[in-house]
Amino acid sequence: MAHTTLMMIKPDAVENGHIGRILEKVTAAGFQIKGLKLTQLSKNDAERFYEVHQERPFFGELVAFMSRGPIVAAVLEKENAVSDFRTLIGATNPAEAAEGTIRKLYATSIGENAVHGSDSDENAEIEAAFHFAGRERF
Ligand code: ATP
Ligand code: MG
Repeated sequence: MAHTTLMMIKPDAVENGHIGRILEKVTAAGFQIKGLKLTQLSKNDAERFYEVHQERPFFGELVAFMSRGPIVAAVLEKENAVSDFRTLIGATNPAEAAEGTIRKLYATSIGENAVHGSDSDENAEIEAAFHFAGRERF
């Protein structure tokens, strides 16, 4: 059965010119793109998207980073999409990410780590609805 996850290519990876290479890895790994856009989060959007982290010491830095430039948001579909996508992107800290993962290849630090992936099926739906209207999903 096909499951959904929500990807963001974060501002660092967009700035560094990695959109095409990341989308290629994602589709080569068997994910189908069901929604796709270049967009920018306002500070308020970033605060809402990462609300669960609001008490963490890095929250201000995270919000400033995520809102500083364009991102690519995508709805992805695949069997076991959430866990398979997190395997494809690698550990939060690129220094600990496995060889060949997107964060190992394209992230620069634990804060500026190239991509976001949903952490549960429930959050994938919430995050997809955050970024996409119904008619933007296929
Ligand atoms: P994401 O939710 O973006 O896919 P993740 O699930 O691997 O990443 P989380 O624990 O949800 O990691 O943290 C959300 C984001 O907050 C991280 O991707 C990173 O950008 C930032 N972050 C996490 N830990 C730190 C830290 N110790 N210092 C700075 N930034 C951090
Ligand atoms: Mg997370």
